[in-house]
Amino acid sequence: MAMSSGPAGGVLSLLLRCCLRAEQSLLRALGVQPLHPALAVQAPLSCPSEKSDEGVPSFLDSIFWMAAPKSRRTIEVNRCRRRNPNKLLKEKNNIDTCPECGHLKLKHVLCGFCYDRVRCETHLIRKEIQAVEGGPFKTPTVETVILYDGEKPRPEDEGKRIIEQKRKRPLWFSY
Ligand SMILES: [Zn+2]
Repeated sequence: MAMSSGPAGGVLSLLLRCCLRAEQSLLRALGVQPLHPALAVQAPLSCPSEKSDEGVPSFLDSIFWMAAPKSRRTIEVNRCRRRNPNKLLKEKNNIDTCPECGHLKLKHVLCGFCYDRVRCETHLIRKEIQAVEGGPFKTPTVETVILYDGEKPRPEDEGKRIIEQKRKRPLWFSY
């Protein structure tokens, strides 16, 4: 309220003070705290309160903390680690040539080239057997002979299961 100067203003201010004092005394008599202006601060919603610390995980627990290097490693240290003789590939002395095809192979390992050749031929033979017999449940329990183009069964092959192929016999596949 704006206070005006002069005798009327003085009377008005005296009346206002009297009213305020009477109001305060009445409130005190009723047991109600006088209404003073108080500092009000609105806290952010994500701020953790003290009550939430008991048993409830904090919002910091959901962060995945990763290990971070404390100091930089020099390029010399990094190169010594990378080019360590224990980390380099070892020299191999067990490489041999395949006696069948001449490809390079390890001494104690099957030749991959020959293995693939046999695998492809076996696949073709199985396809032919599937076409002739119609399934694995009709397989006779006798020895199997594979005959290629231009071959005839020998006398000792009588009674055996004969699978004929319409191709030339591979050089590596002995009869
Ligand atoms: Zn080979």
